[in-house]
Amino acid sequence: MIHEIFPVGLLQCNCSVIGDESTREAMVIDPGDEIERVLDIVRQHGLTVKQIVVTHAHIDHVGGATKLKKATGAPNLMNQNDHALLKMLDVQAAWIGVMPPGAVVIDGSIGEGDKVRAGALEAGVLHTPGHSEGSVCLYFEPQKKLIAGDTLFAGSIGRTDLPGGSFEKIMRSLHHRVLTLPDETVVVPGHGELTTIGKERSSNPFLTHEME
Ligand SMILES: [Zn+2]
Repeated sequence: MIHEIFPVGLLQCNCSVIGDESTREAMVIDPGDEIERVLDIVRQHGLTVKQIVVTHAHIDHVGGATKLKKATGAPNLMNQNDHALLKMLDVQAAWIGVMPPGAVVIDGSIGEGDKVRAGALEAGVLHTPGHSEGSVCLYFEPQKKLIAGDTLFAGSIGRTDLPGGSFEKIMRSLHHRVLTLPDETVVVPGHGELTTIGKERSSNPFLTHEME
């Protein structure tokens, strides 16, 4: 499995390029910005992008999706419950003081139990609302790797004070979906350092209390 993780844009969103070493097919997860850099990495590995997957419709995760789609021809996939957020990208741009990226068209919705693929690599979609209504995590079970978007961070969890956010829902998603994964699962959060499920289960202050 080829897996390049690199922070892009003003808010340093962790973008992932994941490729199958034999078929050279790839998916790009959360192309928030710096699409030239994303394409450089794709070219360096001799990959063909087949899917663009967005964990949620915040501008720092989805801002470069249209540009990447134009460059690769790959479809944009996102959970349909974030369409309202996607419609307000210009408002989101104003929040953080960047140029609006223009409209992003989503080609397909991904929800609980769906699969996203790059060659023989396959991730299951976990619908994990809370940071936003349409937030998803991607679980590569054979590789024990979770792309968590802004649902879980090393030592913290996603903010829930933006439109569509809900503290009750993110806690439910974390306890009922994310924490059911094995301790050795490597977590790639939407921002910051990598962690593991076991480490967060035992030391994340938001997760160390049992939930009803
Ligand atoms: Zn976010």
